[in-house]
Amino acid sequence: MLIILLGAQGTGKGTVAGILSKRNNWIQLSTGDIFRENIAKGTELGIEADKHISKGCLVPDEITISMVEKRLEELNDAPGIILDGFPRNIIQAEKLDEILSKKGQKVDWVVNLETPREEIITRMLNRRVCSNQDCKSTFNIEIFPPKVDGICDVCGSELKIREDDSDPKAIEKRLEIYDTQTKPLIDFYNKKGIVIVEEISKRINRFAEEACDDIMEKIK
Ligand code: AMP
Repeated sequence: MLIILLGAQGTGKGTVAGILSKRNNWIQLSTGDIFRENIAKGTELGIEADKHISKGCLVPDEITISMVEKRLEELNDAPGIILDGFPRNIIQAEKLDEILSKKGQKVDWVVNLETPREEIITRMLNRRVCSNQDCKSTFNIEIFPPKVDGICDVCGSELKIREDDSDPKAIEKRLEIYDTQTKPLIDFYNKKGIVIVEEISKRINRFAEEACDDIMEKIK
């Protein structure tokens, strides 16, 4: 089973991917997480990725695609994979199809997460992530606060604001890139008839757990 999670930044892709992978024993492959791990460790990949991420830009396709291809190779025996943050443009989506078809695999489902734009911006500003790279739990100081202010419920490490969430210019750039480069993927996958749409928003009081119940029902 291979599922792609689409949605603008702050819609809850990471949270939904985390819940689905926990429930089903699937592997969550988050390109953003891999980049952040590499940045924290100061690897060559991290140094290069940081130049783009800190400005809210996409990391160049050749770097991202080869990183994902390598990781998918390592996950050959996984019962399920959730791609969180990849693909992010048509070139990456076409390349993914090519990589999978070589292995006799395909994208099974694409979950498109939708959240009103004004909620997205508030969510990014309210997002706090665990500084422990092995934990990476995510909180929201308004709708999903930690029990102790500034401390991760799961591992007790300090929570921090993601660097690209704290810069309004970077947020704006990321949303613009989503609209121009990532959104066209909805059409790309709609043509294959594999898109599931889920709204996650305060507006309709619908959050990640409920969306995951619905996703599981639909992909049964
Ligand atoms: P995310 O955690 O998914 O919001 O990703 C954080 C940042 O990592 C993005 O704003 C991009 O700069 C970079 N990134 C993540 N996934 C990709 C991708 N598939 N292609 C290019 N850049 C990516």
